[in-house]
Amino acid sequence: MAKGGTGARAKLRAHFLANIGRVMTSEELYEASGGTSEWGRRVRELRNEEGYQILTHNDRSELKPGEYLLETPKPQPAFARAISKETRAYVLDRNGFTCQMCGAVAGEPHPYDPTRKTRLHLGHIIDKSLGGTDDAANLRAICSVCNEGASNATLTRPDLQKLLIQVRRATSQDQLEVLKWLIKKFPKQATEYVNPQI
Ligand SMILES: [Zn+2]
Repeated sequence: MAKGGTGARAKLRAHFLANIGRVMTSEELYEASGGTSEWGRRVRELRNEEGYQILTHNDRSELKPGEYLLETPKPQPAFARAISKETRAYVLDRNGFTCQMCGAVAGEPHPYDPTRKTRLHLGHIIDKSLGGTDDAANLRAICSVCNEGASNATLTRPDLQKLLIQVRRATSQDQLEVLKWLIKKFPKQATEYVNPQI
């Protein structure tokens, strides 16, 4: 049963990829699936699980109900299916392009593994399985090392007292850099602290 389903999905995938840019009807897709009544579900899987941008009348007004169109063979990466480019850019900027777990900065050598350039991903603050959403408020920048769960065990966070001592001893210029970074990271709190009456 499951094997037949996978087979139909593979047939449909091949058919879509061989017909990029051509509008296809549900009858054609039914045939292409090998005549399974589950063809519609398989098409949804290609869209939702594999990320193929299969368009219907819900996406394009030129398409009639029962018409399907795949314009590009390139599936969207998993995160892009739910989270827009704008949200991603906004969250990364809000987090100062810094991993919110270990403090690694995008593009710089990773503090735990200096041979690796830090790459940032978006992570959910409240996991989706626990009802967390894809809204910017529930997203944060996480580096690939933390994303793989590696740095939790290897990097300890500095304790507050030591951190404050470091900041107090730093040059005014560096302190101002810290301030700028904190304001960027906590814009709402920054406003509240500066204008407590608001
Ligand atoms: Zn990290």
